[in-house]
Amino acid sequence: MKVPLLDLKAQFRQIRSDVLSVIEAVCDEQGFILGQRVEDFETAIAAYLGCRYTVGVASGSDALLLSLMAVGLEPGDEVLTVPFTFFSTAGVVSRLQGVPVFVDIQPDTLTMDPDQIERRLTPRTKAIIPVHLFGQCANMETIMDVANHHGVKVIEDACQSIGASRHGCKAGTFGHAGCLSFFPSKNLGGIGDGGLVAMNDRDLREQILALRVHGSRSDYHHDHIGLNSRLDALGAAVLHVKLRYLDGWNDKRARNAATYERLFTDAGLGEHVTLPMTDSGNVHVFNQYTIRARARDALMAHLKERNIGHRVYYPVPLHLQECYQPLGYQKGDLPVSERAAQEALSLPIYPELTDEQMEQVVASIGEYYFGHA
Ligand SMILES: *Cc1c(COP(=O)(O)O)cnc(C)c1O
Repeated sequence: MKVPLLDLKAQFRQIRSDVLSVIEAVCDEQGFILGQRVEDFETAIAAYLGCRYTVGVASGSDALLLSLMAVGLEPGDEVLTVPFTFFSTAGVVSRLQGVPVFVDIQPDTLTMDPDQIERRLTPRTKAIIPVHLFGQCANMETIMDVANHHGVKVIEDACQSIGASRHGCKAGTFGHAGCLSFFPSKNLGGIGDGGLVAMNDRDLREQILALRVHGSRSDYHHDHIGLNSRLDALGAAVLHVKLRYLDGWNDKRARNAATYERLFTDAGLGEHVTLPMTDSGNVHVFNQYTIRARARDALMAHLKERNIGHRVYYPVPLHLQECYQPLGYQKGDLPVSERAAQEALSLPIYPELTDEQMEQVVASIGEYYFGHA
């Protein structure tokens, strides 16, 4: 039996009629750009997150880009972030001619190591972008303390962590701005690209509202140069339907993680793989279930043969990407991220996954290590 890494069709089967009827309603309305559907979703998601405002935009990457534009990032300004993340976290900084400055991660949670921030700060540091990786929050209380102490803005990359919380606060609501993605494989996935910026600051909201429509506050009057980056009405309407299911899906992902933990332990695989660690105070929503595996690449070949879905997030840390050679980093500069890139392996964790499928995943991994003992 094949175990896919993700099965969006299984999810769609449960919500098919709700989704199709809202699509039909939006088509009948023929209002596709912004409007009431987008505003209703923005209000609902602000209530869900527990923040004052949200602004829907075209993608998670654009949420990060617009946030950096809104805090006034200028060419040559530095932004601290981690190298073990999806490319756009740092790519948006470079798009604005800023300079990404990489801070290593913690070996257990794989999120930004707050103890390494201070030594990377310079007078040109404008912002810090911590990433709530794989579904859990970075150590936000420490990061916010350092940032506030030095007058640096914090923009959270919460693209993988909608619904996650730390000490009761939701991912995306700690910093000056929080960025979400509705890429279809995220925990709240849309019917195309989509994203959102969360904030409590009224001025920031005004700025992002303007920047997403070419920097215009009233039609055809432009105070700033923005871009076209809107969440569309059809996407917002479908996301609004799916938002009702999000907590249930996130709970199921967490239960699947607990099942994996039991299965891996019972199989005696503890010395071959390291299971994901949830930091104390965190509610983890497991966008990915990422283990660290000894001899990972050979294990992957075995899983491929057994039809077990898997993927490496992320094989090349950003400081060692070809396009970032001009930044001058060397192998060994950020050792925890480099090691994670060699060992990390994400396994199926989607909500509709069955216990039998998880048993099959763990049995295949056991076969590999014990067959090659
Ligand atoms: C998905 C993701 C993004 C980008 O989101 P898009 O909607 O695909 O642009 C940014 N950062 C992280 C960590 C992500 O996982």
